[in-house]
Amino acid sequence: MIDFFEGLGVEKKINAATTYTAIGGSLMDDEVLDAMRSAAGYFIDMRELQIKAGEKIAKLTRNEAAFITSGCASAIVLSILGLRTNGDAVEIGKVISGTARESEVIIQNGHRINYDAAIKLAGSKIVTVGNAIETHAWQIESAITEFTTAIFFVPGSHLAGSTLSLNQIVQIAHARGIPVIVDAAAQLPPVSNFWEFTENLGADLVLFSGGKAIRGPQASGLILGKAKHIESISANASPNALFARALKVGKEEIAGLTTAIERFINLDHDAELLSWNSVVDFWFEGLMGQSQLTIEKESHNEAGQPVPRLRLSPSDGNAMKLVAQLKKNSPSIEVVHNSSNNLWLSPDSLKIGDAAKVLQAILKFVKLS
Ligand SMILES: *Cc1c(COP(=O)(O)O)cnc(C)c1O
Repeated sequence: MIDFFEGLGVEKKINAATTYTAIGGSLMDDEVLDAMRSAAGYFIDMRELQIKAGEKIAKLTRNEAAFITSGCASAIVLSILGLRTNGDAVEIGKVISGTARESEVIIQNGHRINYDAAIKLAGSKIVTVGNAIETHAWQIESAITEFTTAIFFVPGSHLAGSTLSLNQIVQIAHARGIPVIVDAAAQLPPVSNFWEFTENLGADLVLFSGGKAIRGPQASGLILGKAKHIESISANASPNALFARALKVGKEEIAGLTTAIERFINLDHDAELLSWNSVVDFWFEGLMGQSQLTIEKESHNEAGQPVPRLRLSPSDGNAMKLVAQLKKNSPSIEVVHNSSNNLWLSPDSLKIGDAAKVLQAILKFVKLS
């Protein structure tokens, strides 16, 4: 088979980090690639395809409705556009011409993330509430105005502080007729998060990346939730040549993501966890007794999900040096770090044989130091 990256002279990396977009996200299974290849060979009605794929995914994920986007950031833009316009052609036209009424989206300060810039792309203003450590219910209540489009909620135990829970936010929002959007881009596994935020906790819409743990196409994402909102979202989205045409998703991504979701739901997640744990144990045993390193097994990844990993803290206090050495290694190895003295080895994005190469490289650099 043709090795495209080799032909182009692009260096291939070992991913001991996680499903980071900047290094290619995740790898698709053959059944996902086959679905994309099959979809690439025919013409269909894109609207019919979106509707039928949405119905299938809604059923699989126990939601009222579903819509496929070109990523989770796209899902943010489209959700806001849908809620701003209610799918009304006149309102959509006003957003395009810049004459729509103002729109505000409320976010707790402790939930501010880089990706929330997508809200501004939908023409809305971000209203930040509370401080980095806490939010009080009255602060949310008093931030709600006639211009409030939604409250944006970011779950994950990695976020600091005592922000208000989704339950509290949903109560406050729904008492005032305001919808709640949950950005759960990287909140998989567990697979139950497909329905936890919406069906169990009452959020109106929940958004996921297709190209992270689901292992769908890189340029895919997912919106799940209330059917009336999904309809409004669809009215803004491609194939319509409107504001959100810039976020086009193709038939190949729709085929790939639909197949990847079904695969992910049917996956033996217990067996996957066991295999991840055996890789972490392998690294732990291989690095045990190296006086230059403190190591510790952790049960959750940086997004707070149950994906085990190994934390390394070099005793010279210079984790960033090791990170750079691994990056320059041949093959280049990517890891997660916290810009201070911790780096993490994660098993979830490795290919066969990678775990041993990662261990070898670390032992080599640690012994050099
Ligand atoms: C990764 C991520 C996104 C962006 O997802 P894409 O699918 O790459 O567009 C948005 N929000 C959060 C919390 C993320 O982790």
